[in-house]
Amino acid sequence: MVDAALAARARSLDEEHHDTDLRGRFRLPAGTTYLDGNSLGALPVGVAEAVADAVTRQWGNDLIASWNTADWWGASARVGDRIGALVGSAPGQVLVADSTSVNLFKVVVAAARMRPGRDILLTDGDSFPTDVHIAEGAARVAGLVVERVSPADAPARIAELGDRLALAAYSSVDYRTGELWDLPAITRAAHDVGALVCWDLCHSAGAMEVGLDDHDADFAVGCGYKYLNGGPGAPAFIHVAAQHISSFDQPLTGWNGHAEPFAMSPDYAPAPTIERARVGTPPVLGVLALEAALKAFDGVGMAGVRRRSLALTGFFLECVDALVPGIVVASPRDDARRGSQVSLRHPHAYAVVQALIARRVIGDFREPDIIRLGFAPLYLTHADVLRAAEHLREVLGTREFARPEFSVRGAVT
Ligand SMILES: *Cc1c(COP(=O)(O)O)cnc(C)c1O
Repeated sequence: MVDAALAARARSLDEEHHDTDLRGRFRLPAGTTYLDGNSLGALPVGVAEAVADAVTRQWGNDLIASWNTADWWGASARVGDRIGALVGSAPGQVLVADSTSVNLFKVVVAAARMRPGRDILLTDGDSFPTDVHIAEGAARVAGLVVERVSPADAPARIAELGDRLALAAYSSVDYRTGELWDLPAITRAAHDVGALVCWDLCHSAGAMEVGLDDHDADFAVGCGYKYLNGGPGAPAFIHVAAQHISSFDQPLTGWNGHAEPFAMSPDYAPAPTIERARVGTPPVLGVLALEAALKAFDGVGMAGVRRRSLALTGFFLECVDALVPGIVVASPRDDARRGSQVSLRHPHAYAVVQALIARRVIGDFREPDIIRLGFAPLYLTHADVLRAAEHLREVLGTREFARPEFSVRGAVT
């Protein structure tokens, strides 16, 4: 009976959010509920064709001329601008390049150089490991000391640190719990003491409005393969606010970031534009795949995407409360504090996730006990959400997760 009421509710929510139902722009396998778009986004329509064209025509036929004729050279900045539009960064401030890890390294060292005499880098010790590892590694290079403070406590700590703080580097959404941190407040606090901020948008770009310019964010980094759907290992992006570009003295002074790369000068002079964030030759096929993938966002406002995302995650919480009462919800119930995922805690989380995957409900496991379900707004419906919750009820109710095969670990969880 509960299910019938929920099914009716799913139908009415799907009608209400019909205008942002963009499943038709993706190639999803039949019979699959994909709740891992926050780890590897689904394949958008047109990407396979764009990559085939890049390989067979641009590379195969036109060969090296394609650097000019297909503007491979300009792709990093061109695709950067497209991402900029999704995260509220005006053209000329975002570049597609390298990985999130490498881009964060550039920002930390550059920020230290822009704030000489300040010795503290503030970051979240519970952030995605590479963010903490890179913060530590880059801080050593730059002569900073890393202090680990939860984003919840960051504004107060920033005020205490005052002019010792060089950079506050935080994720806008916690990768484990899906908690949406207060980007405007942390940014303001850092600016109040003359420090810089860098936001990691891996779990927000493509899922919600970020408003980098509105909130005066100095720097941001993020990856191309999660909600932006750029494919496995897609290149990442970096945002440098316009007023900082001329002083963005990043440490990886490769020839692609040179003002005149083809002058082949032995002396380095950084490009006057965002292209100074470049390092070496970009992975062109990956950049073009990402560009094609971003067409899934054409004509879509991020406010509507965010509304859909909150409706999906909110409805999932409703379903969980009704069908799996008692399970621990690790994500905030307050819409204003929730990203686009719902994480649940369970002592057998790994096995539960495997049992769900066997039922073609694909989420992932995160240490130590997190069932992490990502709700990529563009290609999920409320009907999918209910189906996932129903499968979860069965997996838990029948203890299906206890089957031995569900405890075997692969290299990637
Ligand atoms: C996914 C993710 C990364 C990934 O970094 P790579 O350099 O692409 O491996 C980094 N930080 C956060 C917060 C992430 O969620």
